[in-house]
Amino acid sequence: MDETLDAIIVGGGMVGAAVAAALGQAGMSVALVEGGAPPAAIPIEAPFDLRVSSLNLASQRLLEEVGAWSHIPEARRCPFRHIEASDTAEKRHIRFNAAELELPDFGHFVENRVIRRALWQRLDALPGVTMLCHARPVAWVPGGHRSLLELDDGRMLAARLVVGADGAASHTRELAGIATRDEEYGQRALIINVRTRLPQQDVSWQRFTPAGPQAMLPLPGHHASLVWYDSAEATLAREALDDEALRLAIERDFPARLGGVEAVLGRASFPIRRRHAERYVRARLALVGDAAHVIHPLAGQGLNLGLQDAEALSRRVIAAFHAGGDPGDRAVLVGYARERRPQTLAMIAAMETFHHVFTGAAPLRHAGGAGLALAERMSGAKRAVMRHALGL
Ligand SMILES: Cc1cc2nc3c(=O)[nH]c(=O)nc-3n(C[C@H](O)[C@H](O)[C@H](O)COP(=O)(O)OP(=O)(O)OC[C@H]3O[C@@H](n4cnc5c(N)ncnc54)[C@H](O)[C@@H]3O)c2cc1C
Repeated sequence: MDETLDAIIVGGGMVGAAVAAALGQAGMSVALVEGGAPPAAIPIEAPFDLRVSSLNLASQRLLEEVGAWSHIPEARRCPFRHIEASDTAEKRHIRFNAAELELPDFGHFVENRVIRRALWQRLDALPGVTMLCHARPVAWVPGGHRSLLELDDGRMLAARLVVGADGAASHTRELAGIATRDEEYGQRALIINVRTRLPQQDVSWQRFTPAGPQAMLPLPGHHASLVWYDSAEATLAREALDDEALRLAIERDFPARLGGVEAVLGRASFPIRRRHAERYVRARLALVGDAAHVIHPLAGQGLNLGLQDAEALSRRVIAAFHAGGDPGDRAVLVGYARERRPQTLAMIAAMETFHHVFTGAAPLRHAGGAGLALAERMSGAKRAVMRHALGL
């Protein structure tokens, strides 16, 4: 432990690996402490995994800047050029077109494991980054000039900055004594990978029903990831159906525009909750990604928010490092928290509005449907929403 590193990142998920890549390529000395195994290589013909994320243009740009995007094979990413939202009857709907902003697309759908693997491939090429797998912190001791982190294998690390990127149940957050505000929505999301009758699509749509939204995320070829929100009880019952019964339930309850499902290829469900850390920073410590905030996944913005944290934190830390300053300095971290907290709060507020308007009482739902129709006619508002969703 003689050496004091520039930074220790706890958690080698997509957000932690992005921070490690940004700091590593800026010439900083970094240890990435990951509780699990390093991500395995994914054969190009492997079936699609259930965990898929929509990467907006800001996230895509960050992955390009840290040298990871080129490791995501074209066969494993699906661009989307249109986003649509509608009410139950599909009478009122809004459609966003990338062409209206003179963009080729809004972003890409990519499996989480493919994004993570791409980032780790980049980390392998950065001499300043050391990956420590199957290791977890058990104690954190903040100090004036450096923080100490004790790992469960007995190793002691020292760094000027510790970054907690260890997900929703962050132990780093706990060690730093940072409380969270939590809310259960009483809903679950059933994710179903299907083979579609229609060929590859470039539209992602979401239909709001009183029970919760139904969404279609296109994947390469005749593939799609469906997300079906409902009460915990209804979701668990649906999840227990056999493949054919689930296929028939989708064809019956999903909008006709899905165009039919040839086969159900996999399914899993997740509880829907919100969690927000009461603060993002402590002395020489910062939280990023799900360690800082878990939002309702209905607009697919959780990872995008986390990658924007990674961009904001690394931009400020690298600027201090290049100026010969202290990357864990209080002003650097406070600046990061001041930049990111309002963004997250705005996103949480937007998700709450969507959730309550579309799953609330009938008058509210009616207002939601009318709102979609109105927004469709207001091109200025539409463009503002599009730019926000892109992270621009
Ligand atoms: C149903 C669902 C659908 C979603 N869809 C989208 C979407 O379309 N678009 C989008 O942007 N977001 C989406 N999200 C959100 C997105 O998946 C998360 O925001 C994102 O995975 C968070 O990444 P992370 O790196 O912060 O955390 P994680 O992915 O949780 O990574 C944490 C890492 O830390 C490691 N770790 C954990 N504990 C320790 C420890 N004690 N010590 C060391 N390492 C540890 C873990 O092994 C893991 O590698 C969705 C979420 C859900 C639930």
